Amino acid sequence: MSVPNEATVALMTGVDQKPEISKVEIPKLEPRAMLAEIQAATLCGTDIHLWHSAAKSMPYIPGHESCGIIVAKSGDHSDVTGEPVEIGDRVIWAYPFCGECFYCSVANQPTMCPNALRFGREPVAVYPHLLGGCATHQYVPPRSSVIKVPDQVSSELAASAACALRTIMHGFERLGRVPAHETAVVQGTGPVGLYALAVAKSRGFKRVLSIGAPATRVAVAKEWGADATLNIDEVPDRNERIKWVTEQTGGIGADVVIQCAGNVAVPEGLEMVRAGGRYLSIGEGGGTHDIGVSPRAVSVKMLNIIGVRSGAGRHFYEALQFLKQGKFPFEELITGTYALENVADAFNGMKAMTEVKAAIFPNS
Ligand SMILES: [Zn+2]
Ligand SMILES: [Zn+2]
Repeated sequence: MSVPNEATVALMTGVDQKPEISKVEIPKLEPRAMLAEIQAATLCGTDIHLWHSAAKSMPYIPGHESCGIIVAKSGDHSDVTGEPVEIGDRVIWAYPFCGECFYCSVANQPTMCPNALRFGREPVAVYPHLLGGCATHQYVPPRSSVIKVPDQVSSELAASAACALRTIMHGFERLGRVPAHETAVVQGTGPVGLYALAVAKSRGFKRVLSIGAPATRVAVAKEWGADATLNIDEVPDRNERIKWVTEQTGGIGADVVIQCAGNVAVPEGLEMVRAGGRYLSIGEGGGTHDIGVSPRAVSVKMLNIIGVRSGAGRHFYEALQFLKQGKFPFEELITGTYALENVADAFNGMKAMTEVKAAIFPNS
């Protein structure tokens, strides 16, 4: 496969500024590094948040959800199952964790590694430059876990697995066993909420309830098998929503509530969990402001609150295997497709929430 001297990239040059199309020289590969030709990059809320706030790393190449074909490699590299990765393989890859810090080595929580590179936000001026998916080519760092994409999974869905779905798999791993009598509530009907609904449905919950908006996304939740849905546009009073969950669960509350709606949904979600239940908080958006949680809601209620951040190689692998099963019409999440030169439209569509997930095809 031929490798050009330069990649064509989208560049974020200023807060909320229109992304520019530019050229960046393809860097020399470190030992065990690889270069991928991007087949699809998908956007999520994090990209929009960084666009509004990541001034210190600008200019950067956006996009932290990518699927690409390996077109160059330096030395040998294996995927997460131990199979060699060859030129021509279609893959996704995890953030490279350092493997040497306290979180990587002692706590065995590599997603907390302070030394990891995080794609779609690193300054383009710093080697290896090509660390975002909105580009014809992306650098695959030596320490990244690499996962081959099954033929049955499209590149855009594989890209989306590299963020939302891998985090959900990590979250469910931390949630642990699901007894067959339990009911879950999923807060949120965005891509994370819909993926979480699909995973929850496949994990053996007795019932899975979905709460979100707008009506079009609530309809998708219903179609994907939510046992009951609540549209927050129709029920704007949080107390009414909490009451709805209580009624749906025989008066005791949900055994598990899964937050996929951002931090602002946490206090309400904690009220929806039954005493002694579990709260799995996945959605990161909504800022870091005080969410006003009463300590009584946590200690007297004996809640188990489980946070989750990102995922390691095994979660990416599990996410792709889940997509491969094809039990849900996941393609419905990809609502718009764009060429690289139209990346600004993709960002605007995500910002306006007219897109659930926008996919960019930089080499089409
Ligand atoms: Zn993402
Ligand atoms: Zn580390």
